[in-house]
Amino acid sequence: MKHPIFTYGQAVLRKQSVPVEPIDETTKQLIADMFETMYNAGGVGLAAPQIGKAIRLFVIDTEPFTEQYPETEIKKMAFINPKMLEEFGDDFVYSEGCLSLPGINEDVTRKSQIRIQYQDESGTLKEELFSGMVARVIQHEYDHLEGRVFTDHLSSLKKMILKRKLSDIASGKVKTTYKVK
Ligand code: ZN
Repeated sequence: MKHPIFTYGQAVLRKQSVPVEPIDETTKQLIADMFETMYNAGGVGLAAPQIGKAIRLFVIDTEPFTEQYPETEIKKMAFINPKMLEEFGDDFVYSEGCLSLPGINEDVTRKSQIRIQYQDESGTLKEELFSGMVARVIQHEYDHLEGRVFTDHLSSLKKMILKRKLSDIASGKVKTTYKVK
């Protein structure tokens, strides 16, 4: 089932998400719904707060990046109760976008590598290293669980320039090909 995507201005996007407990059939169904919602909207990642649920869960599928960045690993994964352990390596600039901030794309600087702990769909605890575009998508989605959106990383000047666009989104003056709330 597809869910409407909550856009900038909705309180849920500013909440600190709580752990998923227990990890059960409902969680698996929710993950399937999140993939469906993400693909329908043409996204490469989707975090639970973006469908109105402030829980620690996000999904990614980096396949679309392989056209522009052939070296990108294809990772189709769900991260449950993730904990960012380390962000390291070179600074890496990339123009990010977000299904919750339609029409906005801005350069964001982040570290190029991460070490993250999470549970998979069977509840198994894992720890993994990711780099490049995969790390980037994970960092972006992880921010959502902490109540952050990518524009929070921009300079105050950039934020000022975007103010009008952001308030338009918050007041619903925005066109999308997918259902929003
Ligand atoms: Zn996002």
